[in-house]
Amino acid sequence: MSIQLLSDLLIDQIAAGEVVDRPAAALKELLENSLDAGARSVQVDLQSGGVKRIKVTDDGEGIARDDLGLALSRHATSKIASLEDLERVASLGFRGEALASIAAISQLTLTSRTADDQHAWRVDAEAGRGLPPEPAAAAQGTAVEVRELYYNTPARRKFLRTENTELAHCVETFTRIALSRPDVAFTLQHNGRTLQRLPVQSFTQRATALLGEEFAAAALALDHGTPGLRLHGLIASPSFNRSARDYQYFFVNGRCVRDRLIAHAVREAFHDVLHHERHPAFVLFFQIDPARVDVNVHPTKSEVRFRESQAVHQFVFHALQNALAQARAGTSAMSLATGPVAAPPLAATDTAAHYPAYAGAGPRQQPMPLSARHPTSLYDAMFAGITAHTLTPTEDGSASPPLGFALAQLSGIYILAQNQAGLVVVDMHAAHERIMYEKLKSALDRAEIPTQVLLIPATLRASRLEIVVVEENAQALRRLGFEMAVLGPEALVVRSVPAPLQDADPIDLARDVLREIGEFGASRVLQEHRDEMLATMACHAAVRANRMLSVPEMNALLREMEATDRSGQCNHGRPTWTQVSLAELDRMFQRGQ
Ligand code: ADP
Ligand code: MG
Repeated sequence: MSIQLLSDLLIDQIAAGEVVDRPAAALKELLENSLDAGARSVQVDLQSGGVKRIKVTDDGEGIARDDLGLALSRHATSKIASLEDLERVASLGFRGEALASIAAISQLTLTSRTADDQHAWRVDAEAGRGLPPEPAAAAQGTAVEVRELYYNTPARRKFLRTENTELAHCVETFTRIALSRPDVAFTLQHNGRTLQRLPVQSFTQRATALLGEEFAAAALALDHGTPGLRLHGLIASPSFNRSARDYQYFFVNGRCVRDRLIAHAVREAFHDVLHHERHPAFVLFFQIDPARVDVNVHPTKSEVRFRESQAVHQFVFHALQNALAQARAGTSAMSLATGPVAAPPLAATDTAAHYPAYAGAGPRQQPMPLSARHPTSLYDAMFAGITAHTLTPTEDGSASPPLGFALAQLSGIYILAQNQAGLVVVDMHAAHERIMYEKLKSALDRAEIPTQVLLIPATLRASRLEIVVVEENAQALRRLGFEMAVLGPEALVVRSVPAPLQDADPIDLARDVLREIGEFGASRVLQEHRDEMLATMACHAAVRANRMLSVPEMNALLREMEATDRSGQCNHGRPTWTQVSLAELDRMFQRGQ
């Protein structure tokens, strides 16, 4: 076969595979365009989960008649013109490919009117490649109507799920965008029914409308930093927490993103105040100099890359930790309950019963030993075979393995060990997490992760999205070592978990996995996001700080570390152990000088 240039249509269809993998993705692009155009009011009208029709109408600046054709061409954008622009991009769009991509796989009509026009103009993308716009009647702004998505790409159409699934994804997209812009009015209709009507309102009112009054009643306002580096928004006090990670919205310069680094910082900040089976709820806006974050990582722009990731991690962690500490101390906590919200947060009683430390609002509570709920030793299970032949240290340490032999545990966090060079200090949680991660990874490399049937299947209340993910991804879940099934409209059961994680909490673990698959799709989770997925899973098995280990257990962990590739760094890039040499100790004590 000879080499040929692809036709423009085919190029757009290929691009569409990345940008518009489901109706919700098309909706996201259209909504972002409306916001970029300065709209004050946006209407969304869906039919059949968006597959039959997605129509987004706005009152933004509109597109001039002569630009209508250009708006539909690939790599045509009014938003950036140079590499410098790209590096400091402030608009939501900039790649200039969304409309072209959507138009290549649907029947798209673009109608628009600028402030200068006497009437609107309309182009029909399919018929209109090359045809001039026709006059139309409409107010100022733009309406994009997308009909019969994927009608000409049957392979992609086959991947579409039920109307309800696609609708659930569209509602989630709508929620994210609407949360980010309370200064814009939105409505959402599906099959002629109004699902949401949001006037211009305060951020708190918007969050209440979308996330419910219970969330608002428990919400603490947070504002930390300066405009160049600022984190602000609402976090629910720990009394309001979720069994799913669904109320977690994080916006970077106005763009809702999923980011492992941020997720980790949040988890760490809530670590001492929330039982690890529960998830914090928050809507947070992170503002950072656009030059310090790369948004052009993936065509859907739902991922970002921070230039100074450790600094960002620290900043977010401290901002949240401060807010939580102040709330607990009762000093500057500000409950944002709007109006007469009489009922206490639903979860409160439940939480108080489980975690007596939070029953009252008393100041300065001690962090709870969260591992207390798992009194049986993870280590006993993990290292039963190894502990049996743990060596004892020789007098001069000459037979000492690289990480040496354990001496003691320091403050529930560190293992102190002695090797030939001197003192070894190990972060036991980080080390354990790394070991689990490498185990899962090599199991998955070999085929699939071995499964352990649970003696007592775990049932959980599930969101609509979680149910759908289980229905659609049985095979991917099996590869990851899970067996789950739908029990009812709001209930799931976990029957098997990955064997290396059999001591982790199955519900918490399952939720995290479902969340990742729901967000990225099974194939991306198993490919591009594979390592992150495994890291998340490993985190569940890893022993928490504050657990007392016996000396044989500590030695077993050291031996396991030596046998594990890359065990010197935890999954978040921090070291798992460090060496303090005898020479350094001598220097500290000014010995032999
Ligand atoms: P991008 O948003 O990356 O620029 P798109 O393909 O989404 O690329 O849109 C192409 C161009 O069409 C935009 O740059 C903008 O000029 C114009 N456009 C699209 N949607 C709208 C809208 N709702 N209102 C005004 N202009 C729009
Ligand atoms: Mg766009």
